Amino acid sequence: MRIDAITIFPEYFAPLQLSLIGKAQERGILEVKIYDLRDFTSDNHHTVDDTPYGGGAGMVMKPEVWGDALDQVLTPDSDLIILTPAGRRFDQRMAEEFAASKHLIFACGRYEGIDARVGQYYSQEQFHSQSIRVHEVSIGDYVLGGGEVASLVMIEAITRLLPGVLGNPDSLVEESHAHEGFLEYPNYTKPPIWRDIPVPEVLLSGNHAAIAKWRADEAARRAKNQL
Ligand code: SAM
Repeated sequence: MRIDAITIFPEYFAPLQLSLIGKAQERGILEVKIYDLRDFTSDNHHTVDDTPYGGGAGMVMKPEVWGDALDQVLTPDSDLIILTPAGRRFDQRMAEEFAASKHLIFACGRYEGIDARVGQYYSQEQFHSQSIRVHEVSIGDYVLGGGEVASLVMIEAITRLLPGVLGNPDSLVEESHAHEGFLEYPNYTKPPIWRDIPVPEVLLSGNHAAIAKWRADEAARRAKNQL
């Protein structure tokens, strides 16, 4: 999979060198490239924003600079993800859909966001027929300062689903949100008693059927409590 992110703060993406995502790049499972939006400006001040039409607070990111960046980064088969708190809510199902993509592009807004015509332009039929799809996505009902952290959240959730990224692919099978409404049972490791709190006895019993039943009951209890 190829992942590109366009941002005015490329440094935000340094964590992608770490842990599983860093290793996935070393192994060639994943190719990540971060673009500085200001490299696509044409004025001396590298301006990326301007005042909003209609007045109001804040600044809006200019469509020309985003257009120049995206024209270079988009390829046939790209999924263009425009981060916005007004977008479709990201969840595990969406992570699974994006994990099947060949090429994800994350457009990170700042200020009051990106001029709305950018998403509108790349949603047109001429791009759709090249299998370029535009998705406006929110990671939750709150407002962040920019799309960088939201992109990192999505990239981590999506890439751990790619074959070969997790050391043990079985980890994906029974984990929370693997299917609708499912939450994983609580996990414990050694020692058997920590600060007077014992591990549930059944987990030390060696009785696999009893352990499986306990885990299923605990998972159901957690899911019910969450409703
Ligand atoms: N004026 C926008 C609004 O009220 O919908 C908020 C803009 S926010 C301050 C700046 C940028 O942060 C957005 O363009 C988006 O890229 C990113 N952002 C903020 N909250 C987000 C969220 N919940 N999910 C995804 N991206 C978010």
